[in-house]
Amino acid sequence: MPARTDRTTDPQLRAGLLLARRGQAYFSRKVNELRNDQLDAPSLVPGWTRRHVAAHVGLNARALTRLTEWAATGVETPMYASPEERDAEIELAATLPGRAVRNLSAHAAVHLDVEWRDLPEEAWRAPVRTALGRVVPASETVWMRTREVWVHAVDLDNGGSFDDFPAELVDALLADVVGAWRRRLGPADLPALLLEPVDREHAVPVPVPVPVPVPVAQPGGPAPTTTLRGSAAALTRWATGRGADGVVASDGGAVPPPPRWL
Ligand code: ZN
Repeated sequence: MPARTDRTTDPQLRAGLLLARRGQAYFSRKVNELRNDQLDAPSLVPGWTRRHVAAHVGLNARALTRLTEWAATGVETPMYASPEERDAEIELAATLPGRAVRNLSAHAAVHLDVEWRDLPEEAWRAPVRTALGRVVPASETVWMRTREVWVHAVDLDNGGSFDDFPAELVDALLADVVGAWRRRLGPADLPALLLEPVDREHAVPVPVPVPVPVPVAQPGGPAPTTTLRGSAAALTRWATGRGADGVVASDGGAVPPPPRWL
């Protein structure tokens, strides 16, 4: 019999599910504030209209539903057949009439939520593979969705803002982005940056801090570290590649573009 509440009792996972659901509500609200003809306007994602964003967020729910079903059944069902197929599917869905795009986005979100609710405790730990090829426990689908719904709500460009995000989400996003940079680039290629949120206790070093102090500003030595300051929300928005509003560099120079996130 289908459950009426989440089957998992893990408090951390339940908190994660709550944040994902709040993000879904936020995204749905921003989509519903747009008239159909406004869906044709550009979004903050280069090359994408708002319609592409709404279609993509719906298709992302379907892809994460496939991972959740994989965890539940043990039958391998990847997120997407290939990156090309993923892109083609978004392009196709973005040609749908406004009402159809809204339905796709809303129904896919409900379906994912039902799969999550009914997933037994042990299945949340089952390994699944992300579109980027990482093997993660099924519980990671919750964070993957959280990221998508909140950030793409801002990408709709109709008033959504990182300033609306709960503090724990802002901090988790920044840690996620910096972690992705470190994994992809390795210590030698990471920009020598220290991110200093003015509304938090701790700064976030981009390269992993070296335990022994290294002399800086030596000829041929490591580049001196630039500190970027701003609210945690502004720094996180910058880190996700959505502009440097509210961020200043300690050396008075231009704020550098961030490395790619995803
Ligand atoms: Zn996305």
